[in-house]
Amino acid sequence: MTTQPALTLVRGDLTEQHADVLVNAANSSLLGGGGVDGAIHRKGGPAILDACRDLRASRYGKGLPTGQAVATTAGRLHAGHVVHTVGPVWSREEDRSALLVSCYRESLVVAAGLGARSVAFPAISTGIYGWPMDDGARLALRTVREETRSPVTDVRFVLFDADAYAAFERALAELDRSAG
Ligand code: ADP
Repeated sequence: MTTQPALTLVRGDLTEQHADVLVNAANSSLLGGGGVDGAIHRKGGPAILDACRDLRASRYGKGLPTGQAVATTAGRLHAGHVVHTVGPVWSREEDRSALLVSCYRESLVVAAGLGARSVAFPAISTGIYGWPMDDGARLALRTVREETRSPVTDVRFVLFDADAYAAFERALAELDRSAG
């Protein structure tokens, strides 16, 4: 028998969520940035950046490659861990969807390795990295739905504004229809 994690859409700020894992739309430097990344470091405090610096000094000397994921402490956030993943920058010339799919998949693998049951995601790559929201929503939801063997039981997408929330609602309705 296979089970799928329950999917929930929430409108709000990722950094205010309570979950075992909060996923950060990081950049490969792991040393902070704008958008979700900036908010996570501001609210989570310096322990997260310290852990990221340690990762740069050890396993990820050249930075975290696009599509991969790694965990740190969540500092003062209401979570057990932050899982940092690096989304692809949107390109008109090249299809980088596999890398965006990999972000969601690898984040869930890392979360499962930590024993997490609940994971909250932002809409990776759809901000500074320019990925079209409708397509980003479709890829995100489809990838999580395909994770039928993950021990993670609760996957939440935390959408910052009304347009992002509406795009995820449409994509979820489409996915439910196609699943029959
Ligand atoms: P990326 O560089 O991967 O595009 P961003 O952080 O710029 O990452 O944006 C990813 C998505 O997260 C965008 O849709 C953006 O509007 C949204 N976002 C920005 N800040 C927050 C936040 N605090 N909580 C949830 N979503 C956020």
